[in-house]
Amino acid sequence: MPPHHFDFAQDAIDLARRSAEWVGLRYSSETTSSRCVRNDMPEKNETSSDAGAMCEVLVDGHFGYAATADTSLLGLQRAFERAISTTGTTSAYKAHRFTPAQRPASVGSYQSSSDKALGSTSLAEITDCLRTASAAMKGSDLLVNRSARAMTIQTRLAYFSSNGAAIEQNFEMVNIDLAATAAKGLESQTRTWSHTAQQGGEVFERARWTTEAQRIAAEALELLAAENCPTGTMDLILMPDQMMLQIHESIGHPLELDRILGDERNYAGWSFVKPADFGSLRYGSALMNVSFDPGVRHEFASYAFDDGGNPAKRELLIEGGMLRRGLGALESQVRSGLPGVANFRSASWNRAPIDRMANLNLEPGTSTLDELIAQVEDGVLMTTNRSWSIDDYRNKFQFGCERGQRIRNGKLGAVLRNPNYRGVTVDFWSRLAGVGKDTVAYGTPYCGKGEPSQVIRVGHASPPCLFQDVQVFGGAA
Ligand SMILES: [Zn+2]
Repeated sequence: MPPHHFDFAQDAIDLARRSAEWVGLRYSSETTSSRCVRNDMPEKNETSSDAGAMCEVLVDGHFGYAATADTSLLGLQRAFERAISTTGTTSAYKAHRFTPAQRPASVGSYQSSSDKALGSTSLAEITDCLRTASAAMKGSDLLVNRSARAMTIQTRLAYFSSNGAAIEQNFEMVNIDLAATAAKGLESQTRTWSHTAQQGGEVFERARWTTEAQRIAAEALELLAAENCPTGTMDLILMPDQMMLQIHESIGHPLELDRILGDERNYAGWSFVKPADFGSLRYGSALMNVSFDPGVRHEFASYAFDDGGNPAKRELLIEGGMLRRGLGALESQVRSGLPGVANFRSASWNRAPIDRMANLNLEPGTSTLDELIAQVEDGVLMTTNRSWSIDDYRNKFQFGCERGQRIRNGKLGAVLRNPNYRGVTVDFWSRLAGVGKDTVAYGTPYCGKGEPSQVIRVGHASPPCLFQDVQVFGGAA
């Protein structure tokens, strides 16, 4: 978005302020480029841009919104008038009487740290890099799909308010996925590698992509011939690329304060966590420490301020297994009386912010992976999420992984295909018996929530973890 658009911000805010207790204006522009090479052929090559502004008002203790892609002074004025008018009507049904205290007057800026700026690699070079990765997965006629994808996203946010907030944040994000599918008869197995969801500049590293591409192709072939995961109660080691999903679904979503308040019952669901549980619920074993941390360099959902202008800072949500704090922004905090975080986030210029995860991380422990494996007499190690299912209270779940490996008497053994496990959230986390020391950060651009729907980016960093006596099962034979 050209900076001159902001020239109208102050005038639009001053005009709207005459009819509202408080007004805010958030500009957002985003450019996304997606490239894909499949089976050595370029398949996708597109760039899209989206830009607009959200006009936000506080009238009679009720926040209201109207969005516009017309960021001229007249366009902003019209949107503010619409926001003021609809808010006046809906105020009679408000859930809470809010004040400008829920919109801090923060001033500052943020820029993703990067070694190489987005856009500095030519399209030809990116395509060539993707082709190299696709070709590196060749080697058997059984490898029926060999894809390499790269997505780059550039987002600019600017936020101004009548009580003096002035914030600019620039994000550069990269998402890379390699996938190899091997098929024989009715059986097919897929292995993937992701440099998922990182903030920072470009990472088109041909050598690393080649190594990872060759590895996943070999592993997909190996899985075709592997035995099915056994069924039974045994120990389970989850690698960071499955831990991210475990954290997301069974810690992140149930701790969202707006869910706990019932806002999401209609759509994304409720939560087994009750307001009275904060400060008293033992969520997991004493080894469990979970942080909300938007300040991790390169992690996907790092930022300096949330979309309500609240300065972002690290907070422990679960400490020594005890539930301390929820994933709720200032509005949910004042409604519930519970401690929260700076996580008021919107997916786009035309969406109002709601409580979201940002970076939600499991804090590292002290064990090496070998030490975790050595603790297991009878178990399975699982890598890379493949499927997930969890109830709408975020309680009972079952998750599947791409690759398993048997562990017996402290040693890794045979590769297993179709590994799955199931559990119930608090019971499962109480089985946490070992936490690795080597954290890897993953994330996803596709966390869905809200009506109208919002898809947002989240980051999850975790070390490998050991859980004792988990129900493990294989796929259909
Ligand atoms: Zn989600």
